[in-house]
Amino acid sequence: MSAELAQDLNDSFAGLKPAERLRLLTERLPGRIVFTTSLGIEDQMLTHLIFREKLAIDVVTLDTGRLFPETYALWQQTEETYGRRIKAKYPQAEALEALIDDQGINGFYFAPEMRKACCGARKVEPLGRALAGASGWITGLRRDQSANRERLDFVSFDGARGLIKANPLFDWTREEIRVFTVDNAVPVNPLHDQGFLSIGCAPCTRAIRPGEVERAGRWWWEEETKRECGLHVDEAGQPVRAEDGRPAPGDSAFETIPS
Ligand code: SF4
Repeated sequence: MSAELAQDLNDSFAGLKPAERLRLLTERLPGRIVFTTSLGIEDQMLTHLIFREKLAIDVVTLDTGRLFPETYALWQQTEETYGRRIKAKYPQAEALEALIDDQGINGFYFAPEMRKACCGARKVEPLGRALAGASGWITGLRRDQSANRERLDFVSFDGARGLIKANPLFDWTREEIRVFTVDNAVPVNPLHDQGFLSIGCAPCTRAIRPGEVERAGRWWWEEETKRECGLHVDEAGQPVRAEDGRPAPGDSAFETIPS
């Protein structure tokens, strides 16, 4: 994988529809391609396209063990709708036991470092295993989720992970995606209609209030400047985050994983 190929794909993406973008990735990237889904509405659209088009892309979710019951129900419903399995990565049992021994079951509320330790054990480490050996990583990131637009693109080279990272819905708005899911009977999380626009782990997600940004309900008790997710790092291995606390490039995976 290379930055040149990423740039070439990026240039090609502009004139294509999301399904065409996904197919192009399967044609141009040798090796395994992974789509990490949090089962949020963007990810459900991508899952629909991947399963309906029978594309050779692994659909993987990170089960943190703290997801909403509605998310688990949607997971099952999605598999039954498309007849395909969504693969799961779980935290390492010993790491999780050590975490809970150290900071308790809900330690994440008490300090940013404790929250990052939980995200590290439940999401970041499993994500590394989900992407191990992959040549491509697909996320559901949208341009209008992030203030850090100038650093984002349809396709980029993730030097830290050594793979191509692609955002096929980068230029789609949330409303366009919502209409697509209605028109195509794509199953979506009922919590979206209750103010949970961005859905992650249950204890770390609340519904947003009128006027709040989409991600305001995530880790709401923390200062915005400390909301690094740790899932996305730059080539120096440093966390990448948006300037306003909204998702870093590709954060949809958790959220695009349950971030
Ligand atoms: S979002 Fe909350 S519960 Fe989920 S891994 Fe992070 S700190 Fe833990």
